[in-house]
Amino acid sequence: MSIREIVKMGNPVLREVAEDFSVEEIKSTETKDLLEDMWDSLEAAGGIGLAAPQIGISKQLAIIKLSSESDRYPDMEDSETYVIFNPKISVIDDNEQGFWEGCLSIPGLRGYVERPRKIRVDFLDENAAQKSIEIENFLATVFQHEIDHLYGTLYVEKMKDITTLTFEEEMVLEG
Ligand code: ZN
Repeated sequence: MSIREIVKMGNPVLREVAEDFSVEEIKSTETKDLLEDMWDSLEAAGGIGLAAPQIGISKQLAIIKLSSESDRYPDMEDSETYVIFNPKISVIDDNEQGFWEGCLSIPGLRGYVERPRKIRVDFLDENAAQKSIEIENFLATVFQHEIDHLYGTLYVEKMKDITTLTFEEEMVLEG
């Protein structure tokens, strides 16, 4: 187990389309070790989601866990723990909702991003079982943000108004 370095915007790996996992790869010891490192790295960074490309691995894997103890996102309720391999998004409700997004690969900044409110995500879980979940609200935004990482996209490209790009210390967090 170890904490991996999180690469930052400008690193080419964040612009690649990540490769799918095979079932055998998902079940391998290497992948279980990688997952442990990703959870350690996410916890150390105080984040709520991490995609494999953010630690320099261009593979279709992300982890998500909303935590009520997050300093980065106050007033959030705990979520389940999600490990998603090879995820695919289908939009269920394309009415958009906006949140102030941040990214461990773009430290210190937030930007206002609007995304579809409700989605379905089909993926393989850590046992390589096929899963399908429907999610909405902030959790849907977090999934879309992390899955964007697997296709070389960062939240700043999703902003409609670049003037909302803001340093965290300039933000007045509510609550
Ligand atoms: Zn991110």
